Amino acid sequence: MEKWYGIIKNTIIVLILVAIAIVFIHQTRQQIIYRIDSPNKIVMNTVAKITAVTYGKEKAQKSIDAAFEKIFEIDRLANRYDPNSQLSKVNRLAGREKVKVDKELFDILQKSINYYRASDGAFDVTVGPLVDLWRTCAEANSIPSDKQITDAKKLVGSDKLLLDSNDFSVRFAVEGMSLDLGGIAKGFAVDLAKDQMLKAGASGGFIAIGGEIGCFGNTEDNENWTVGIQNPFAADNGENPILKLALSNVNISTSGNYRRFETIGGKHFSHILDPKTGTSAEELVSVTIITSDGSQADAYATAISVMGVDKGLKLLIEKTKETEAILIKPNREVYISKGAAQYLVK
Ligand code: AMP
Ligand code: MG
Repeated sequence: MEKWYGIIKNTIIVLILVAIAIVFIHQTRQQIIYRIDSPNKIVMNTVAKITAVTYGKEKAQKSIDAAFEKIFEIDRLANRYDPNSQLSKVNRLAGREKVKVDKELFDILQKSINYYRASDGAFDVTVGPLVDLWRTCAEANSIPSDKQITDAKKLVGSDKLLLDSNDFSVRFAVEGMSLDLGGIAKGFAVDLAKDQMLKAGASGGFIAIGGEIGCFGNTEDNENWTVGIQNPFAADNGENPILKLALSNVNISTSGNYRRFETIGGKHFSHILDPKTGTSAEELVSVTIITSDGSQADAYATAISVMGVDKGLKLLIEKTKETEAILIKPNREVYISKGAAQYLVK
């Protein structure tokens, strides 16, 4: 009897020790910092990549998965090249009737109208007809005629984009208008992806969707995130950046006519169009904006590509708190706003 009592007692002690060890190992694993880099994924007509830093490995993968899920969701709403997207439905029908949309798409449109006003019309998501005209002409290797540009311009202007916040509906004042969110949707998606990562428990993160980047917290080595600005005059795919920046808790967006363009008769034309002239914006070869809102970074980079240095700085950068710019002109002159200097890596 006593022998059995001893065996049971020892077994219980061993089981308790094992349980304590399991809890200890689990807690230690939760304290270890992990970094996971996602593979490149094609979404929003570009390449996206996410890095998560978390305590505990599962959280890292979970936060990356949640972020991508959100990015794909925004793409399904806002991609005009996907015939099944909500934006395509708007483009097909809003010239004839009110089209109700999801809150997120409505948010992008409301923000777009604000940036249209702030930029004196340089940022205009109703550029769809002009984008289509230039694309069709580029395919035929011809430059659009003045008449074609004048006709397309009649369908452009965010003052003709009517939003009703009572029922989240969209209506075009003129039939034939179409929206193109290529200049803002990626920056918007970066912010929502960041929210998902924070919710999933990430302590640091880096999200890149094409030229739109958002970062928060620190790297696994407790450092800032390093971002290079591609040299627009070197065909090296960004391998030797012209400048390096160390960032945390900001968004950075770069628009440039070297990133996407059309070639007509051997000449490059930027994919960014000046809604006033209907022709491509050629004042700057690279525009980088650093600010704490992804949509704003994206929209301002596109807008300043149209506005040029003087107007862009006066209307957008100097008037907006904690918003910085790095602008590169075709003659290779680089302008760095005062506050941007704090981010430069020497
Ligand atoms: P980004 O690369 O962010 O500068 O955006 C450029 C994309 O935005 C283009 O490929 C067009 O889809 C769209 N876009 C072109 N011009 C404008 C403009 N003036 N305002 C808003 N979006 C534009
Ligand atoms: Mg943009």
